Amino acid sequence: MFQKMLIGGKLVGKDEKGKRIKVINPATEKTYAHVPKGKVKHINKAVAAAKKAFPKWAATSQAKRQEVVSKIADVISNNAEMLARIMVKEQGKPMPEALGEMAWTEGYLRHYATLSVEGRTIQDDETFKIEMRRVPLGVVAGICPWNFPVLVPFWKIGPALIAGNTVVMKPSPTTPVTLMKILELCNDFVPAGVLNIVSDENDLGEVLTSHPDVAKVSFTGSTETGRKIMASAAGTNKRLTLEMGGNDPAIVMADVDVKETAAKIYAGAFMNAGQVCMAIKRVYVHEKIYDEMCDELTKLAEAAVVGDGLQQGSTIGPIQNKAQYEKVKALIKSADTDGKILCGGVVKGKKGYFIKPVIVRDVKDGDDIVDKEQFGPILPIIKFKDVKKVGLLANASDYGLGASVWSADEKAATKLAATIESGTVWVNQSTNIGPHIPMAGFKASGIGVEQSAEGLEEYTQIQVLNIAH
Ligand code: NAD
Repeated sequence: MFQKMLIGGKLVGKDEKGKRIKVINPATEKTYAHVPKGKVKHINKAVAAAKKAFPKWAATSQAKRQEVVSKIADVISNNAEMLARIMVKEQGKPMPEALGEMAWTEGYLRHYATLSVEGRTIQDDETFKIEMRRVPLGVVAGICPWNFPVLVPFWKIGPALIAGNTVVMKPSPTTPVTLMKILELCNDFVPAGVLNIVSDENDLGEVLTSHPDVAKVSFTGSTETGRKIMASAAGTNKRLTLEMGGNDPAIVMADVDVKETAAKIYAGAFMNAGQVCMAIKRVYVHEKIYDEMCDELTKLAEAAVVGDGLQQGSTIGPIQNKAQYEKVKALIKSADTDGKILCGGVVKGKKGYFIKPVIVRDVKDGDDIVDKEQFGPILPIIKFKDVKKVGLLANASDYGLGASVWSADEKAATKLAATIESGTVWVNQSTNIGPHIPMAGFKASGIGVEQSAEGLEEYTQIQVLNIAH
């Protein structure tokens, strides 16, 4: 399979002759597709096309912009099966999760298609008329990671288009194909230049984030890259939304139903093989139920079916790429030294970056597996005694994306939840997100907000018209 880029309404990239990037299937370690190796000139052309398309798109009615976003949702829904198969081959997740990502993305787009950008009248009397408008910014650059190769890009594309901006996307080099295919399928109704995509080999991000004609960068990825983007965007004062890493704590009180809670925690930790920004990444369990909770989580992990996402029945696919696989393997090694591994580990004697879900007990704050974002199928369980101090442990992290508190006493859990330094804190649930719910990170997890009316506003600039009568 060879998938071209989309620049200014044209499919770009020489098939066999041009320089190409191999896209590896993480379940087989074999190349399953190629995309063009984009160059600096492609970024420049894409930004120029987006800049050219901007005035007309910004002047397009809100209703028309909503219609275009709805049609993108139709494309995803009408081609869900085909797109999900491509996604499994490049990302690795099991087919039901890939289909779920298509349905999720469609749902987000349908919601964005109901939104509009509203200004307001601040004063209107015999002396002054003061109006606040919300105008689009111009060209938005969307830079995305590899864990949700379709959902995360459309978290940016949807609101950017609704607000009247034009877009240049740069997908992750290891998962570019599904998104590029979707944009190709949308090319007959999205006006030329409004939506562009350039594939790279991890080398063009900075060209885009420092480009003088890019007004805003919306980035999702690691905190380390987010910092680099802040630096490269500074020279041209770009607006930034940064959704970055997380190390989400779950705090489990002694009064929970252990079996029921373990099942929910397992689901919140191991979806997409743990490669989820808001996955549960460290679990603090009260000493009274510690052993029981470790046993329940181990049972669930042992029941996982690890395999190629296209194989029916697989519940855990491979780690998406080799670099991440090596990182997770190193964390398993350190966890083996610092604590006790109850189950799981690297699947041997088989091609593919497969790891069976790992449960680790008897680890503590300060151990790598507790302090670092694992972004893989390994879950550390930490014992706590003092209910008054556990919130401090949860907060002793540079990250602050999500967190959860689990207790039969909803009131007490909610009180504790409010003290956790995270953009979202769930009570008796986890990873429940939606297009109407703001998603923001504290500390090193983020700057700005995505989703909801508040997220949409980040794709606009306030302009005040102050008229003296
Ligand atoms: P990454 O930071 O390595 O890469 C993300 C994107 O940034 C890729 O497209 C990459 O090519 C690009 N990039 C790399 N260097 C760049 C530079 N100097 N300038 C501009 N762009 C550059 O992240 P990843 O490994 O793809 O994704 C995993 C990380 O993403 C995890 O830390 C995870 O927590 C985070 N993530 C966060 C959220 C969220 O909403 N907060 C969602 C998903 C993933």
